[in-house]
Amino acid sequence: MTMMLLPGERLSGLLERLAAEARLYGPLAVDGTVVFEELGCNPPTIEPGCPAGSLKSLLYHQTDPVFDFEGGYTDIALRAAAPPVAQVIFGVRPCDAVGLDRLGRALAAEPFADERYRQRREMTTVLTVACREAGPHCFCRAMGVSPADPRGSDVVLYPADGHYLLEAVTPRGQDVRESAGKLLDPAGDDAARMACRETLVLRAAGLARDGLAAHLEAAFHHPYWDELAQRCLGCGACTFVCPTCYCFAMFDIVRGTRGRRLRGWDSCQFKDYSLMAGGHNPQPTRGSRIRRRLLHKLSRFPAIHGDWACVGCGRCGAACPVGLHLAGVLAELEEVLS
Ligand code: SF4
Ligand code: SF4
Repeated sequence: MTMMLLPGERLSGLLERLAAEARLYGPLAVDGTVVFEELGCNPPTIEPGCPAGSLKSLLYHQTDPVFDFEGGYTDIALRAAAPPVAQVIFGVRPCDAVGLDRLGRALAAEPFADERYRQRREMTTVLTVACREAGPHCFCRAMGVSPADPRGSDVVLYPADGHYLLEAVTPRGQDVRESAGKLLDPAGDDAARMACRETLVLRAAGLARDGLAAHLEAAFHHPYWDELAQRCLGCGACTFVCPTCYCFAMFDIVRGTRGRRLRGWDSCQFKDYSLMAGGHNPQPTRGSRIRRRLLHKLSRFPAIHGDWACVGCGRCGAACPVGLHLAGVLAELEEVLS
């Protein structure tokens, strides 16, 4: 592991260089809520835990034009949406970067790769800041993610006593390190050793939850889901803030013979999400919809893509108007099944 040292007072210089090469985003307090926004000349807001809004909104936009169309049924002309531009995202938390890795397994996997997502991912550089302190809703370690996890990141910065130790994880991260040039100092042996030791400790902290999928599948018919449905409002906030949820709907805006097709986030917690023509709904109750979400994240997704579709960021618990937190639901399930 080659580490470089970035003194805290040179961070703004690094951000200026990055902004000269691509659109620069980072966590920013907007009306009291921290979300990912274009930074401009504002310093990023780095707080314990992760921002309220997840990173996915920069790669998998909430509303995304797919193409414009013009004409009738027999002579329709299509014009593809404008291609994405290069972007750099600074101040990402490790759980969010791992979330990007999970999102990519679903959206960028052949043979059904989402071209729009794939293009944006290729144009995105991710600079992660390792966590030294957990936020009130964090439970990343319980989901096998560590506070210094490098997966999904191009660069990981370890904050330490007024400076950052910078590690380039990918070739794109090495480009960042080179463009930082003299802003970086070689990390002395002591600093590198310290970072190395802390990193290994933090990375070793990821714990696996053995047997979780089997546990959930065994609870499929348990009345617990109906009891849970009495509390859940079906508002979908948990899915919108989640870095690994990707349900979507397509819709058209039409003006005469011209129009635009858009893709927008949808939620499997909405009553009509699975409604079919003819009126059949395979997920007719709130209990069945919550169960499907959890089973998808912790049993079906790992069966297909090899890892959980939950990184323990805790946003679902923070956003839920009735305080339903995924870690809390898992704990309740363990209790009712024991
Ligand atoms: S399910 Fe909740 S804790 Fe897990 S990744 Fe999604 S928002 Fe974060
Ligand atoms: S945010 Fe809470 S109330 Fe809303 S759908 Fe999710 S679990 Fe239910």
